[in-house]
Amino acid sequence: MTINWLDFGLNYLKAAADLLLPRRCIVCKNKLLLHEKHSCMHCLADMPLTYFWNRSHNPMSDKFNLAIQNSLETKGREKYAYACALFYYDNDGIYRHIPYQIKYQGNIQAGKFFGKMLGRRMAAEALWQDVDCVVPVPLHWKRKWKRGYNQAEIIAGEIALALHAEADNGILRRKRNTMTQTRLDVKGKEENVKDAFEAVAEGKDFRHILLVDDIFTTGATLHACFQALRTHFGTETRISIATLGFVGH
Ligand SMILES: [Zn+2]
Repeated sequence: MTINWLDFGLNYLKAAADLLLPRRCIVCKNKLLLHEKHSCMHCLADMPLTYFWNRSHNPMSDKFNLAIQNSLETKGREKYAYACALFYYDNDGIYRHIPYQIKYQGNIQAGKFFGKMLGRRMAAEALWQDVDCVVPVPLHWKRKWKRGYNQAEIIAGEIALALHAEADNGILRRKRNTMTQTRLDVKGKEENVKDAFEAVAEGKDFRHILLVDDIFTTGATLHACFQALRTHFGTETRISIATLGFVGH
């Protein structure tokens, strides 16, 4: 048996680092074991997965299609938008720490980890095979500059890799720096993001665009992005959505 001294050394260093400054599960905050990343095995096993990725009709797609199928300009011509999320999001639940870490704590690696987890599940399903472009919900440039990155872009990048699709961060632009949506009611959220986005997609042509955000709450932001994309892409282009968290109630 040969010993891989480099692996041995790295594991030794990791173990030593864990002793000095323990890495913690971002969900339950318990110490991580040497082989665990971001989340402990228990939290991964108990994650309230939606399984929406293998169902063309689900509570998230129903909610989203209710909004887009009633649009006056495309009524009756709109293809059914597919929708999926990795897990059920609850404001009081411990899994809320995942999007929080990615959005506010600069935990880009966790964004990649959970983005990849969703992307791999989608890649195994027929619904998503023809996705040829993945578009993150954009941040206003001022907010992105302040935060240093766009969390939706991190997640979208991993999903695009898994689906072998193009990741396009330039197709949508946020014209207005909108207020944070957290404290607004449903109507307020719609008003807040109405006409906030514009599509910059000259000469582009796609079959199936996937819009990506971190959490789906009322769907108002994704709906506004959808409408902006529709000004450039005709109804022959299906526009679907994917997020990490879905607020189910
Ligand atoms: Zn945990």
